[in-house]
Amino acid sequence: MAPGRKRHRPQRSCVQCGAKRDKEGFFRIAGRPGQGFEPDPGGRRPGRGIYLCREAGCIGDFARRVRTPKGARRFRMGASAVLLADRLEAWRGGP
Ligand SMILES: [Zn+2]
Repeated sequence: MAPGRKRHRPQRSCVQCGAKRDKEGFFRIAGRPGQGFEPDPGGRRPGRGIYLCREAGCIGDFARRVRTPKGARRFRMGASAVLLADRLEAWRGGP
């Protein structure tokens, strides 16, 4: 690779605010539509990823959003959406 050339890195967007950055900069939620999603702070789980800003209120806003039937449908989470919202809020609160 030529010196001084920036390597292309995959960019992702926050599903809440639309901010774009490298995927490492996001909090990831992984899962499969219709089956369930879970928080994936390490970014290693297989499946479809949903990306949120680690800072700001995006995680909390997203948790509130998927608690509503409309939000759960938007991400095809079904009944698992409420469980995910609980886990996100617990994660945010920290141990
Ligand atoms: Zn955001």
